[in-house]
Amino acid sequence: MPGLFHGTPLEQPITCEHCAKPHAHCACPRDRHTGQVLLPKDQPLRIRREQRRGKFVTVIAGFAARSERTDDLPAILRQLKSKIAAGGTLDGTTLELQGDHRDRLVEHFKQLGYPAKPAGG
Ligand SMILES: [Zn+2]
Repeated sequence: MPGLFHGTPLEQPITCEHCAKPHAHCACPRDRHTGQVLLPKDQPLRIRREQRRGKFVTVIAGFAARSERTDDLPAILRQLKSKIAAGGTLDGTTLELQGDHRDRLVEHFKQLGYPAKPAGG
């Protein structure tokens, strides 16, 4: 006798279309509203520098809002902080890093597949 779920959608675990892991183990960033996997190419980033109290900060905007369970933005911020050896914060989906790293970060995110552009002056 075939398995209980033979021939039904429950026969196999439903896997992530991106990493092919079962959804329970998938850590791909997903859109907060649609649940779709967020790919770098669909998140055009704008990277600008601002001057605050005489000091530059680099602001990275344009990440899509993640679902709570798959929020990879804190990890992205950690990696950036260690890459450029500067402090930084996360405000919603906007990353801020201390210092002027605009051009370097545009290149960094382009290499990761994000359509990243410098913005502002
Ligand atoms: Zn996945």
